[in-house]
Amino acid sequence: MEAHILVVEDEEKLARFIELELVHEGYTVDKATDGRVALDMAINNVYDLILLDIMLPGLNGLEVLRRLNKEQPTPVILLTARDAVMDKVSGLDAGAVDYITKPFAIEELLARIRVALKLHGRISVNTGLTEDDSITEQSLKEEGIYRWKELTLDVRKHEVKYAGHGITLTNREFIMLETLLENQDIVLSRDTLLEKVCGYEYIGETNVIDVYVRYLRSKIDEVFDVKMIQTVRGVGYVIRTEEPAI
Ligand code: CA
Repeated sequence: MEAHILVVEDEEKLARFIELELVHEGYTVDKATDGRVALDMAINNVYDLILLDIMLPGLNGLEVLRRLNKEQPTPVILLTARDAVMDKVSGLDAGAVDYITKPFAIEELLARIRVALKLHGRISVNTGLTEDDSITEQSLKEEGIYRWKELTLDVRKHEVKYAGHGITLTNREFIMLETLLENQDIVLSRDTLLEKVCGYEYIGETNVIDVYVRYLRSKIDEVFDVKMIQTVRGVGYVIRTEEPAI
């Protein structure tokens, strides 16, 4: 049985877009554009998951979430405006299982939906695990999705985005970035990276790695004004969870 999802979003174009993508993935979808209507639908139907926008006419998303929790324990993923930190905090406090910031890459939303259904779906077994961020991150990794700040790398789709903006990488740049993201907080030597990026057979200068780092920095760090790939002198490179203060 395919999961039944309620999409609550008052921006009609976005709602329609999400609906099409979800139907394409095989989900059954209902839509609501008003908070009050959404709450009624959520109470009177059994949904596997609800995607809930916060700024809504009728009743705001957080209020819908609070009232719904008293009636039905349906997993909710909040759709929040960019940088609305308070919304995220209150949303998670109010019982949302996850949130995604607009604008988002549809692949990331689909991955989060799969993860939420896996962790919180009615059919899934209780694993006894604590449902915290690290589990979400772990499950995203299992889906082949790596994140760093607003960067998303999707292995299966061979796609990299920063805050929804597509980034074009060559195959080797992609593998390099994937390797660094897969090993976040672990310093990788040029040799290790070389093996990954160019293969065991590669005979040549290890400084090709420095060249790829330069390419990646020019396509990501410089464009989005971040310090993603850090150089560890005499050792190699690392992407740390925490961006350096400098
Ligand atoms: Ca809205």
